[in-house]
Amino acid sequence: MTEELIIRAARDIIRAKKVVALTGAGMSVESGIAPFRGEGGIWEKYDPEEYAYIDIVRTNPGKSWILLSEMQKEITKAQPNPGHISLAELERLGYLSSIITQNVDGLHHEAGNKNIIEFHGNHRWVVCMECGKRVKCTEISLEKLPPRCECQGVFKPDVIFFGEAIPYEALTKSNQEARSCEVMLVIGTSAVVQPAASMPGIAKSSGATIIEINIEETELTGYISDYLIKGKAGEVLPKIVNKIKNDAANLSV
Ligand code: NAD
Ligand code: ZN
Repeated sequence: MTEELIIRAARDIIRAKKVVALTGAGMSVESGIAPFRGEGGIWEKYDPEEYAYIDIVRTNPGKSWILLSEMQKEITKAQPNPGHISLAELERLGYLSSIITQNVDGLHHEAGNKNIIEFHGNHRWVVCMECGKRVKCTEISLEKLPPRCECQGVFKPDVIFFGEAIPYEALTKSNQEARSCEVMLVIGTSAVVQPAASMPGIAKSSGATIIEINIEETELTGYISDYLIKGKAGEVLPKIVNKIKNDAANLSV
């Protein structure tokens, strides 16, 4: 069954004029980063209402940074998994136009993708809340929290916190990508966090085929998505890419 769907996905990708991927936390689980809603995740320990609202980051940054420094450590030691590497290969081969990601771990960049829309920012960078200076997180010390800039302003990770709006440019660009693609790969997202969750619907209503890759069914399954390839992103994506590389001539006709 899955093998048939791998061939079907490879064929759909090869035949499409434009393919876009939408990725969520499940994409990075095999890199050791826990998703929001999974067991053993960081959010079992820290209530986002208490630690990750933008108001708390501004008024009590020392508290927020207890969570943020843990996330930062988890993210900086993570490496791209075979799923990320396969998406980078798809882009290099000319089959993938862009990635819209909800992840903040920067692993698509690390894997080598070029055209990435990061809806929620990138945790590998921090920005000073006073002067706006932006530096790599590895260049600041986390010994004393919250970390401060030379202007004495407090640094915050360059991500969108709860209570903050998605940057306008990311939103318009991803809307465009969703509207203009012929295939959308929806990988490792529970598709409940807006506005990313609406992208598959936008693509679908513009005529795109929606292929889900997830270890379980989501709210999109059987409704927005045309088919679900049930499995881990780090196992399914390399199989699709191999199929494309080995069989492109046969699958294109
Ligand atoms: P989510 O936690 O709500 O859902 C994760 C999804 O991934 C689930 O549907 C699950 O079944 C699936 N999944 C788990 N392991 C998988 C695997 N190996 N292969 C394929 N699928 C797998 O994540 P979400 O929908 O992305 O929404 C959560 C929000 O949390 C996002 O907005 C994101 O910004 C943030 N977040 C980001 C990271 C990160 O940067 N890596 C981690 C946690 C949360
Ligand atoms: Zn500063």
